[in-house]
Formats: sequence, structure tokens, C-alpha cells
Amino acid sequence: MRKLFRGAARATAFGLLLACPLVSSTTAAQNLPTLGDSEREELTPYMERKIGDIIMREVRRDPDYIDDAPLLEYLNNLGNNLVEAKPEVRGEANYDFSFFVVRDPTINAFALPGGFVAVHSGLFLAAQSESELAGVVGHEIGHVAQRHIARMLGQERKDSLIPLAAMALAMLAARSSPDAATALAVSGEALALQRQLAFSRDAEREADRVGLQIMSTAGYDASGMVSFFGRMQKATRLYHDVPAFLQNHPMTSERIADMQGRINNMPYKQHVDSMSFRIIQARLRVLQDSTTQGLHDANTFFQNQLEMNPHTEAVAAKYGMAFVALKRGEYDKAATLLHQSREAAQRLAAAHPDTTWGAIVDSLEIDIDQESGKTAEAVKFADAARERYPLSRGIVHQYVDALLADGRRDEAIAYLRDQAQLYREEPQLQALLAKAYAEEDKKALQHLALAEEYALDGSLMAALDQLGMARKAGDATFYENSVIDAREREFKERWNDEQVMLNKKKDKDKDGDKDKNGLRVFAGSDHISAQCDPVTASGDDAHFSLTPPRGLSCPPGLQAQP
Ligand SMILES: [Zn+2]
Repeated sequence: MRKLFRGAARATAFGLLLACPLVSSTTAAQNLPTLGDSEREELTPYMERKIGDIIMREVRRDPDYIDDAPLLEYLNNLGNNLVEAKPEVRGEANYDFSFFVVRDPTINAFALPGGFVAVHSGLFLAAQSESELAGVVGHEIGHVAQRHIARMLGQERKDSLIPLAAMALAMLAARSSPDAATALAVSGEALALQRQLAFSRDAEREADRVGLQIMSTAGYDASGMVSFFGRMQKATRLYHDVPAFLQNHPMTSERIADMQGRINNMPYKQHVDSMSFRIIQARLRVLQDSTTQGLHDANTFFQNQLEMNPHTEAVAAKYGMAFVALKRGEYDKAATLLHQSREAAQRLAAAHPDTTWGAIVDSLEIDIDQESGKTAEAVKFADAARERYPLSRGIVHQYVDALLADGRRDEAIAYLRDQAQLYREEPQLQALLAKAYAEEDKKALQHLALAEEYALDGSLMAALDQLGMARKAGDATFYENSVIDAREREFKERWNDEQVMLNKKKDKDKDGDKDKNGLRVFAGSDHISAQCDPVTASGDDAHFSLTPPRGLSCPPGLQAQP
């Protein structure tokens, strides 16, 4: 099992990029490929996003990426509220921000190129208020908005490579040449030992300024940022244990004073934590460590929480205990505890205008019903829940899952096809469609849906691979075959366009020869289809990591025709 986030490299914000599976042999790090022309310009927003997409493809497959719908919905609501407070942070590229949680007990958060912001589970749990969490997220948004990462990437390329650049490049290179990728990854790792990646003081102040502004506009208590950063700094002095966050975002007393000064000029805003915040913290405490010992520790934590503050903490503590019970397969106990959590929440609801907590509680109830084998109840409850919370995509996915578990495949497929028309950018719907078709033993349609899923995730080569399998399955209708053909043309064109954007040299290189950096580029889809076939692989292996055998002139995911 690969663990992108594990290992010594995690001390640096971008350290996660180092433990890349591409490292397999040592090759001289020469003829390093460049992004675009060899001029040392700042990364363009398009390129930055592209690099971010590529890194995220790997990140999402890592076991420490917490793929949990209620958690992601909560964090993205919070992050996007901050972004909406000052939409210009989206920058000229106007890209969407995306927020996610990494399973890691250290206190850290980091931004990747292209608007991806990660929060460690350790930091999420250490936040004593929602405003503290918003402060850290706002600060990271500030780094993205000010294009600090793009600038650092652009600038560092002048002298050598920083780990992020190395890794980003390695990932790009891997799409064309495993050798170049290996060389880059190794040189990046060696460099990482020598240098600590941190933002400059000016960059930190800029990120603070943007962060404070957006959190205040979005209605959070701006002093939450100072209190959290201040607590981290205090811990450093007391225990000589510098939280990872401060290693990547150097803190000075001047910086804190600076923030304090800005806050003094802002109107004071009291922010009452949403119930969702506490419930999600409880959920994350369970997700962070679902081993037997981890569940035991979490349960003890919830019991203590409940004893100390039976009134205010009952919602989150009972929710957490219900989640622990579900993980342990104690379904009746889980249902009872969740019911108590819901009752406690309803008593406090008047003081909490935010009602998103209901979706989080409903989501767990659906899971309890379904996992305990009450599939008909799960369908009924999920159906009602999706009416109550039409904005929750997670509940929609659970509804379909419940339909499938209850054997109502036709209904599930019809509903999914409607949904896929409405939400064309949602890979989960395609994944569910693939699951439904697999159960119906409709192989061509299953692979077609998987192709759509991978393409939406940005893995065009894996998508092409699935189209090849759809064609070979032999059960496609005439119409479905024409869809496969059309999608294949489209994906190949998109893949080629991407190569043009990522390597401008291609324009001068129309015959598909190696460019001077040793990266092979492809002139057009005809060239690919003339020489390459999709590599046959399935499941996990069909993702980005597929690379052709060395020396072949086919891109990852395609192999030379025999
Ligand atoms: Zn920072």
C-alpha cells in the first residue's frame, strides 16, 4: 500500500510530494524537462492548475486522503464561504478552490498549486473554534490568491529545483518518459534533505492580510486566527516543539502584532460555532484512527467530553459514540446514540441558525440502516433526506448506494442517468453507474462509465484505456459503439491539447519526435491510434501510474501495437 503522506518528508509542507512511487532507480538528473519554454517565467495560472490536478490525482489515491463526503462537504462549505467573501481571490484564472483533509496527527495545513488546500486531521481537531479553523484555511487561501506557490515554483526553477517543482515535473514527465520521471524524483528527494521549504516573511504577512480580510467579511471572528497562531507559537516556546505549520509558515512576534493591529481596526464579530463544526470534529476523530485502539481512545474522549459538558457537548459526543458503535458493528447501540444526538441537537437548534448539521446526522443514519442490512429503510430514509437537504451531494450518492444494496438496480440506473445529465462534472455519479452496470453484467456500459469517471478526474489515458475495454467487451450496441468512438476522439484531442499547453515545443515538433528535453510529445490522435493500443489493466492500475515499457513511443496508458 502506498502512503504518499508518510515518511520523514512530511515535515515540510510539500513533503508529501516526495514519497512518490515514481522513485525506483537512480539515473543522472540531466536533460531535465522544462514546463513550457525554457525561459524562467512564473507559472501561468493554467499550468499551475494543471500541476495541481496531476498532484491531486495521486493524492486522492493515497490511503491518508480522507475520502468522506460529510467531512469534505463541511470543509468545502467553510472554504468556499471564505472564497465568496472576496471572489477576486480566485485570480485571473478564476479557478475553483478545493479543500480536503489528510490523515495526519501533526498540526499542519498547506496549499498546492492551483487552489487545492489541505488541512491535517491533527490541525482540524486542535482548532478550539470554527473561527480558528477558518483562520488557517483563510491564510492558505491567501497564499493561493497571492500566487506564492506559482511564484516560488517559477523562481526556484532559476537556480535548481525545489521538491514541489521536482515532483510536479516528475509527474508530468512520467506521462511521457519514465526515465525522466525517475531522475527528477531522485534529485528532488536529495535536494529536500538540504533545504527547508518555507514561505518568506513577506509572503506570510500577505497571506495573513488576505486571510483576516476574508474571514472577517465571511462573518468569522478574526481574532481566531491570532489565537490559534499564538497558541502554536506558545507551544514552541514552552516545549521547543515547533508545530509543522510554523515550520512552513514562519511565525514572528511582529507578525502576530501585525495581525493584532489589523484586527483592532476591524469591527468585532462574535461567531457562534455551528453545530456542524463540533459534529464533524467528532466524526474526524473517529476517521483519523479507526483501529481498535483508535476507536477505544475516541470513545473515551467522547465520554469525557460528555461528562464535563453534558449540555453543550451532547450533540457531538453522542454523534461520535454512535459513529464508533457503527464502526464496531454495534448497530442498535449506534442507532440509539444517534437518536440521542439528534434530540440534543434539536433542543439547541434555536441558537444555531445553520441547519447543515441535519444532513450530517442523516447521513450517518442512512449508513447505520444500510450496514445493518435494513436496506429498504435506508432507501426510504435517504429518499426523504435528499429532499430535506437538496444541496448535499453525499446524500444523493448514499441514496443510490442504498437503492443498489436493496436490489433496485433499474431505479438506481434511471436516477443516475438523470443526475449525470444535471451534474456532468461529478465523477462519483459515473463510479456509481459503473457499479450498477457491473451488477447488471453490462460490461461495455460499465467501462464506458469508468472512462467518464477517469476523464472527470483528469486521467485521460486511463479513460482511453477503459474505452478500449468497452469496445472489446463485445456487448455494446451499435449506438453505444458510436458513443465509444466519439468519446475516444474527444479524449485523444484533449490529451493532445494538454500536451501542447504543457510543452509549447510540440508546435515545432509535429512529427512526434523527442524534443530536446527528452520528452516525447505526440502530434495528433492519428499518430497515437496508428501505433498504440490501450494497455489492458483494471481497477487501481488503470490510473495515472500506468506507464509504457521503456523505449516505447506511446504515452502512459497506451502500448505499442505488436
Ligand atoms: Zn503561511
